Amino acid sequence: MITMKSLFRITVALFVAGLSLSSCTSSRNEDTKPRYIFLFIGDGMGVNQASMAESYLSYKAGKFGGERLCFTEFPYFGLAENYTADKYIACSASAGTSIACGVKTCNGWLGVDKDGNPAESIACRLQSEGYNIGIMTDVPVNHATPAAFYAHTKNREDYYNISKDILGSGFNFLGGAGLYSITGKNGEPSTQELLEEDGYILCYGAEEFAAYADSTDKIVYLQPNAKGNDLAYYDNRYNEGDISLEDMLSLCLDFIGEEEPFFIMCEGGGIDWAAHANMTMSMIEKILEFEEAIEKAMEFYRSHPDETLIVVTADHATGGCTLGVGMDWQEELVDWEKLEKQWIESGKLNRSSYKENEAMNTEALIGWTSSHHTGCPVPVYAIGKGAEKFIGRMDNTEIKDKILGE
Ligand SMILES: [Zn+2]
Repeated sequence: MITMKSLFRITVALFVAGLSLSSCTSSRNEDTKPRYIFLFIGDGMGVNQASMAESYLSYKAGKFGGERLCFTEFPYFGLAENYTADKYIACSASAGTSIACGVKTCNGWLGVDKDGNPAESIACRLQSEGYNIGIMTDVPVNHATPAAFYAHTKNREDYYNISKDILGSGFNFLGGAGLYSITGKNGEPSTQELLEEDGYILCYGAEEFAAYADSTDKIVYLQPNAKGNDLAYYDNRYNEGDISLEDMLSLCLDFIGEEEPFFIMCEGGGIDWAAHANMTMSMIEKILEFEEAIEKAMEFYRSHPDETLIVVTADHATGGCTLGVGMDWQEELVDWEKLEKQWIESGKLNRSSYKENEAMNTEALIGWTSSHHTGCPVPVYAIGKGAEKFIGRMDNTEIKDKILGE
């Protein structure tokens, strides 16, 4: 895909490269920064959530332990502190901002520091350096985690104005379940109109995407069911015609290509939503879908191992889940068979009521301590160029600079 904008970027990049050579000041950064960057954020996916999925995978393989998610086998692993500017328990807005912008802030705030000043996200920074940018999620595009990469606000629920911050970003691909508050308020233009004025094409579903992708360098992919829908009743499930997170990543990769460097942030947002509801099997399903998207990035990595960095992390953990609950360790039997059977029989909802769900989790020896987030360091897994920096204890505000090789 070579468009006028691409040519402009190449020209700018050559000019900047020329400056760098003549001044000899930025060779370290140019040497260390990966050309292709994937940042995966499993919303709510702490160490316990990931190990719970691995326990289920072992059950499915007919083994006692030993099955792994692909990213937990990455060669570098660390733990990131995720407390906020003033709380031990982060929300996705503050933790997303720390990861994206490298600053601590307050819960509910996006893309601003603890004093409310706008902070530059890694996506904006790289966009200005000629990288193509893709931001995607399985929940709405203007939800907290993706918004941390382009928005600046003290109100994470001001969805209409958050969408407006996409305007002028120049990001090439945004994808998700839909856009909250797309119709506009008090007679203001819809988000769709504003995005189209800014040069974006909004596509609903893979067919529309295929029809328009060649004619633009800025595109927004939304699931087909989001058409004409403010997502007031978005329920964290794929509907007929929706595509998976893995397929969304494929669309993005095909769209932006590899002629120019890129930064892609891909969020598994449904993990958090399922964990809030303490829905064990649904949470695992979302983690496995998230893993499939990571497998897609691994395919890319295998053909560009010297130029690609993949980082997988979480903003915070959700639900306080544990393998094991109660006092009777001698009777330990985490009953995946029972949990899975009930989940399938209930149409993969995993509960008919909160109380029944709670009883079933307890019976299967799955513990949940909260229906909200919990305060604990989150895992960081890394592979590829610069991955060795993601080892040991770090703060979530360090992730941005580590990716940038600074
Ligand atoms: Zn949450």
